[in-house]
Amino acid sequence: MNKLCVIGDPVEHSLSPLIQNAMIAAAGLPCVYGAVRVPGEETELWLCRARREGYTGFNATMPHKRTLAGLVDVLSPDGERFHAVNTVCIKTDKIYGYNTDGDGILRALEESGMSPGGRSVLVLGAGGAARAVVPKLLDAGAQRVYVANRTPERAAGLCSLVGDGRVSPADFSPETLKRLAGKCSLAVNCTSLGMTGTGGEFEDLSFLEQLKGDAGVFDLIYSPPETALLAHARQLGLRGENGLGMLIWQAVFALELFVDERLDEPAMAAAARRALEGKV
Ligand code: NAP
Repeated sequence: MNKLCVIGDPVEHSLSPLIQNAMIAAAGLPCVYGAVRVPGEETELWLCRARREGYTGFNATMPHKRTLAGLVDVLSPDGERFHAVNTVCIKTDKIYGYNTDGDGILRALEESGMSPGGRSVLVLGAGGAARAVVPKLLDAGAQRVYVANRTPERAAGLCSLVGDGRVSPADFSPETLKRLAGKCSLAVNCTSLGMTGTGGEFEDLSFLEQLKGDAGVFDLIYSPPETALLAHARQLGLRGENGLGMLIWQAVFALELFVDERLDEPAMAAAARRALEGKV
C-alpha cells in the first residue's frame, strides 16, 4: 500500500485529498492519501518523519515548496528551474523532488484550445505560480512573454532567472497592460486578484479589449469559478478558462510519479473533475 499525503500549513483547505482519492479509486490503485499539517519551520523534520512512518510520497503546498527544493536528494529539471517542489517520492535510496505545476498548466491550456505555441503571451504576476508558468510557455513555443507585475523588480527578477531573450518585464499600470495586450493573443493571470477571500480586484479590465486574433484568457484562480477577469473576457467573446484544469492536471502527473506508471490520464482527470463538482 502506498501511503501518500499533502503537507502544508494551513492544509485543511487543500483539495488534493479529494482529487487524489477520486483518481486512486477510479484506477483501483493500492494507495491511501491524507493531509498532514506541517509548520513552515519543520520541512526537514517532516522528511525524516515521512520516511519513518512509511510514506512513499507526498504533495507540498504553502509554505514548503521552495524549502523542499533545497532538501531533496534529486531535483527534477522543472523543480530546479522553478526552485520549487510540489511532489516528492521517497525511494529506498533517495528522495526525489518534482514540480508538476508547469506541465499542469500546459495541458490545461491545450485542453481549452489556448496552446501557447506561436503566441505572444501577457503574464500577469510574478509570484510563485508565474515562476512555473513562464518557462513552460517558452518551452511550448511562445513567441514572446511579457511579465507584468505590481512590483516591477519582481518581474525583472523572474525574467533574469528565466534567462531567455523572448521574455521581458513590465509594470502593472493600466496603460502598460493595454499596450502589451495589443501585442498578445493570450493573457494568463498569475496574480491573486479576483480570488475568493483576498478582496483585491483588477482596477481596469479594458486591456482585454486589446488582445488580438483568436485570443484567450487563462485565469489560474478557480475560486470563484468565474472571476471578473474571466467574465469580462467572455463578454468580449474571448476564450476563457479558470485554473481548475491546471489543478487537476498537476495532480494527475503527481499520481503518475507516486505510482511510477503511466495512468489513463483522461480517465483520471475526469474522475478528479467529478469529485470537484459543487466543491469549488
Ligand atoms: P504569490 O507568490 O503570493 O504571488 C502573488 C502575485 O499576485 C504577485 O505577483 C503579486 O504581486 C500579485 N498581487 C497580489 N495582490 C495584488 C494586487 N492588489 N495588485 C496587483 N498584483 C497583486 O502567489 P502564487 O503562489 O503565485 O499564486 C497566485 C495565484 O495563482 C493564486 O490565486 C493561487 O491560488 C493561484 N494558483 C493556482 C494554481 C492552480 O493549480 N490553478 C496553482 C498555483 C497558484 P507583487 O509581486 O507585487 O506582490
